[in-house]
Amino acid sequence: MSMQKFNIAALAGDGIGPEVMREAIKVLRAVEKRFSVSFNITEAPVGWAGIDAAGKALPDDTLALCRNSDAILFGSVGLPDRDPTIPKDQRPERAALLRLRKEFGLFANLRPVILWPELSHTCPLTKERQAGGIDILVIRELTGGLYFGQPKGSEDLGGGQRRATDTMVYTTAEIERITHVAFAAAQTRKKSGGQGKVTSIDKANVLENGILWRDVVTSVAKQYSDVTLEHMLVDNGAMQLMLKPSQFDVLLCENMFGDILSDEAAALVGSLGMLPSASLGATKGDRVFGLYEPAGGTAPDIAGKGVANPIAQILSAGLMLLHSFHLRDAHGAIIAAVTKNIKAGNRTGDIYTSADPTAKKVSTREVGDTIAAAI
Ligand code: NAD
Repeated sequence: MSMQKFNIAALAGDGIGPEVMREAIKVLRAVEKRFSVSFNITEAPVGWAGIDAAGKALPDDTLALCRNSDAILFGSVGLPDRDPTIPKDQRPERAALLRLRKEFGLFANLRPVILWPELSHTCPLTKERQAGGIDILVIRELTGGLYFGQPKGSEDLGGGQRRATDTMVYTTAEIERITHVAFAAAQTRKKSGGQGKVTSIDKANVLENGILWRDVVTSVAKQYSDVTLEHMLVDNGAMQLMLKPSQFDVLLCENMFGDILSDEAAALVGSLGMLPSASLGATKGDRVFGLYEPAGGTAPDIAGKGVANPIAQILSAGLMLLHSFHLRDAHGAIIAAVTKNIKAGNRTGDIYTSADPTAKKVSTREVGDTIAAAI
C-alpha cells in the first residue's frame, strides 16, 4: 500500500500556543515513525504573532496555506494586555479564529470530555457519580439556530420600553448534516465494545425547532442500525450531566444548547489543559476539512514558563487524525500514549495534587517526550 500523505497547517498563535504546539508536532512525528503515513507540517503565524509578522491577525500567506492544507492544527490566539490597543474587529479572536470558521464553513463543533480515573480529583462530582471515568463527545451545531437567525435586533417602543428579537431557525438540511457527523462519530467510538449511542438534545415540548430537530434526527438515525438513538429534553440533559454523566456517549445539540451543555460537560474535567476540540466543515471526497484546537486560550498567566499542559493540543492532533484523515489506529495510539503518561503519574501543575503519592510534577516538554515515546 502506498504511503498516505497529509498537508497540515500548524498555527501555534500566542501565549502558551507555541509551547504546546511543539509537543503536538513531536507526537505527530512519532506517529509517522510507527504508522505508514507522512505529514507535511507547515507552521505559520496567527493572532498577535501574525500582527507582528505581517500586520494582521490572519496574514494572507497563512490563509493561503490553510486553503492548500487538508486540516488546520490551531494553538490559541489573543493577549489581553495587547488586545485593547487595536479595534475590536482586528483583534485575533475575531479577525483570525472567527474568520477561519466562516471561511471554511465549519458547522460542527466536537468536544470530547474525558476524565481519566487517575485524575478523579480534578472532577467536581463525587467518585460514585464519576463511575470510574467519564467519556462523552459533545457535538454542537455551530452555524445555525438562535445565534444567526433573522430577524434579529432591538427596537424602541417609546415610553422607556424596548423590544429585542432573536429568531431560532433550522432547516432539514442543516439538521441532517450535523446528525450525520454525530452518528458517524458514534460508530467510531463503540464504548466498552458495545453499541455506540447518540443522545439528541432538544426542547420538542415547547419549540417548533425542537419538533423538527427530533423528526429529522429520528429519520437520519434509520441509516445507522449499529448506533442507538435516544432523545432528551435540554433541561433534563443539563441535570443528567451532573447526576449520571456515565450514561452519555455522543451528545448531539443545536447551537445554543450545545454552547451551554459543552461548557457544563467541560467542567467535569477540572482543567482546560485536558480538553481538545474539533470544528468540521463539509466532506470532500473521503476527507473532512477541520480546524483542531484546545478548548482553552493563551493562558498568559503561565506562558513562557514551560508548565502548560500540552495534552489538550496533543489530543486535538489526535482528533485531526481521526476525523479529517480517518487514521483510527493512529488516533488510538495517541489516546493509549496519553493514558500511559497519566498512569505513569506525570502531571503538569493544572492536574497535579500532592495527595496522590504516585504523581510527580513535570514540565510541558517532559509530558510531550513521554507521550511521543509511548507512541
Ligand atoms: P485561558 O483559557 O487562556 O486561561 C484560563 C485558565 O486556564 C488560566 O488559569 C490558564 O492558566 C489555564 N489554562 C488554560 N490552558 C491551560 C493549559 N494548557 N495548561 C494549564 N493551564 C491552562 O482563558 P483566559 O485567561 O480567559 O484568556 C486568555 C486569552 O486567550 C484571551 O486573550 C482570550 O481572548 C484568549 N482565548 C483564546 C481562545 C482561542 O484561541 N480559541 C480561547 C479562549 C480564550
